[in-house]
Amino acid sequence: MRYLSDTGRVGRKAMRILLVEDDRMIAEGVRKALRGEGFAVDWVQDGEAALTAAGSETYDLVLLDLGLPKRDGLDVLRALRARGNALPVLIVTARDAVADRVKGLDAGADDYLVKPFDLDELGARMRALIRRQAGRCESTIRHGALTLDPAGHQVTLEGAPVALSAREFALLEALLARPGAVLSKAQLEEKMYGWGEEIGSNTVEVYIHALRKKLGADLIRNVRGLGYMIAKE
Ligand code: CA
Repeated sequence: MRYLSDTGRVGRKAMRILLVEDDRMIAEGVRKALRGEGFAVDWVQDGEAALTAAGSETYDLVLLDLGLPKRDGLDVLRALRARGNALPVLIVTARDAVADRVKGLDAGADDYLVKPFDLDELGARMRALIRRQAGRCESTIRHGALTLDPAGHQVTLEGAPVALSAREFALLEALLARPGAVLSKAQLEEKMYGWGEEIGSNTVEVYIHALRKKLGADLIRNVRGLGYMIAKE
């Protein structure tokens, strides 16, 4: 499967996605694809649950269906924007009329994709939105001799490719996206895992250890009692 191959980890500073979709088959397909790529995905099935989730958790992106039980997707979007919530919203819907697209974008959506859609295209649109949100027009993140390419899902050190697992990539991306910022273990876990995914008690430490072995002991610093950081260049 190569669909979101690149996304996951990428912009995805270990990204957390809110998937709002009442069609179980579509939701499970999308969730599986995104999780396979290392995204943390929370899935809700109606408009009210979407608003509650968006208000209580920090997401990098919302994938929003329009035809939803309890509260229509457009309604959800307007309510989010009225609250001042600026998180990127990608509408994914069967409503394909031009008037619907215009309404969706005017209500505050950042992009609009019509069902049935191609998972490759969904991934590319997600990456573009996440990139824009991060204020990067360049997709590759550089730090000294290290580069991380979210779209290509590749890391190089002094020009040589370094093989990372999806979780390692997600962790590294989270730290590289904000050099100089200390991220707590809980913040890193929140970026790496969706609801209901079991988190081992020492997984962050295990992944940090693996990254240090592959990328050098000095890159990721342990800030005692607070968490981890990658220093600014
Ligand atoms: Ca629907």
